[in-house]
Amino acid sequence: MEWQGHALLGLRAAQGLPEWELSMLKPDMSPQGIGQPFMPPITHVAEKLGAFCLILDWIYQPEFAPYARQAEGGWVPHHPVTAGGAISESGNNALIADMLQKMIDELRAGRWEEAVRRAGALGHFLQEPFTPGHSTPNALFEEIFPDPDPSRHWRLHCCFDSASGDFPPPKPELMGTTAKEAAFRIFNYVKQGIRSGRALIGPVIMAAYRGETIGENAHVYKALLRKQSEMSSFITCCAWHTAFCIAFGRFDAREREELRSFDLVSAVPYYMHPSKYVHIVPDKLADEEGRLVPIDVWGENGSEVRFEHGFGLFGHSGYKFFINGNFSRLKFKLGMPSRIVKLQNEHTDLRFSVEVAKGENTSSSEDIEYGADSRVLEVRLRAGEPVREYDVDISGADTLILSSRSIPLDHGRRRSPLRHRRPGRHRPGPLPVNGVSPAFPRKRQNRRRNNLTFALLRAIL
Ligand SMILES: [Zn+2]
Repeated sequence: MEWQGHALLGLRAAQGLPEWELSMLKPDMSPQGIGQPFMPPITHVAEKLGAFCLILDWIYQPEFAPYARQAEGGWVPHHPVTAGGAISESGNNALIADMLQKMIDELRAGRWEEAVRRAGALGHFLQEPFTPGHSTPNALFEEIFPDPDPSRHWRLHCCFDSASGDFPPPKPELMGTTAKEAAFRIFNYVKQGIRSGRALIGPVIMAAYRGETIGENAHVYKALLRKQSEMSSFITCCAWHTAFCIAFGRFDAREREELRSFDLVSAVPYYMHPSKYVHIVPDKLADEEGRLVPIDVWGENGSEVRFEHGFGLFGHSGYKFFINGNFSRLKFKLGMPSRIVKLQNEHTDLRFSVEVAKGENTSSSEDIEYGADSRVLEVRLRAGEPVREYDVDISGADTLILSSRSIPLDHGRRRSPLRHRRPGRHRPGPLPVNGVSPAFPRKRQNRRRNNLTFALLRAIL
């Protein structure tokens, strides 16, 4: 058997572990422990650790089947945990924390063979979503990209099982000082990997269709997915490294310090109210034409402030983040855009709020009222509102909801749509002078939605 797939990704991860961690492991290296026909050739501990990332596939070996089971008896899935057809934040956080804790317990007890088996199971589960074949319903592949040759039907899944080991050993980072905290950071990274992996679905399938056989362009799939392989190996290495650090209480001071805050701009929300801003675009706003522009907001007295880091939120939208109860405070700046002013006028009345909930909030809501446990902040923003800083208590929250509601005027005060559509009624607003927009266009019509902008959002542990 060759070094490929999970074994290869695991081997590269093991090669990145610090020496003190790898040298501590003393698993069963007897012929019985390393020489089974379903294992690649193993000669040393790093290879054993890597090879055991295949353990979730050894379910017909009675000795290994228990490692493919969750605590309550169900199988560990070969994709992110789902609930109700969607990726479950709480489910994935809980499973990652549980698998990590099992590895920590075995390390702490010095049961090295058990620790390697738990590490392998965790590695396999974490690596899966980095390939679209294990993150995305496979039927979509041929539904979105139908084969131009109607005389064939290919199992496109195998195009995405093309792990590469062509990258330097990963340099692991500490993901947390508890399994629960680490699970949150690890899963956020996994979600980033799901997104970047999905961008490769089209290119991989198109490369496949150019071949006479599905395997003809396998080298192209592998090359396209190389970065995904590297990411999956990195996060495997991070999870194992974190398990060692927690098990033996050996934390690097710098790594620990970096865990004190989490940059919300890098967090992947699990729910976004259907609106114009479908994704968070880091460090940019999208203007009315959909072009990305810097985040410029109003300061005091009509001045302008630029946020180098942050994101924009459309004026009638909600984002939910699963933060797994890890954070105590949310610190951020909030302002209104100073260059995108077409929809700001004297009627602008934006209600921005921060809400928290225990558990994973799964409700959807047309009016952006999600039934959270409490609204810890509500701010009303008018046109030209200067940027302000906020610091709110979010202790114990599993779900963090950021939302903005643009409340429309009641119908009695609204002008007829026909009337303000009359030619000649629209006058262009004043152009920015010296980089600062002067007074707002005084439109009488109601505008329901406005762009709302955040600066760096930082949740502090
Ligand atoms: Zn698998």
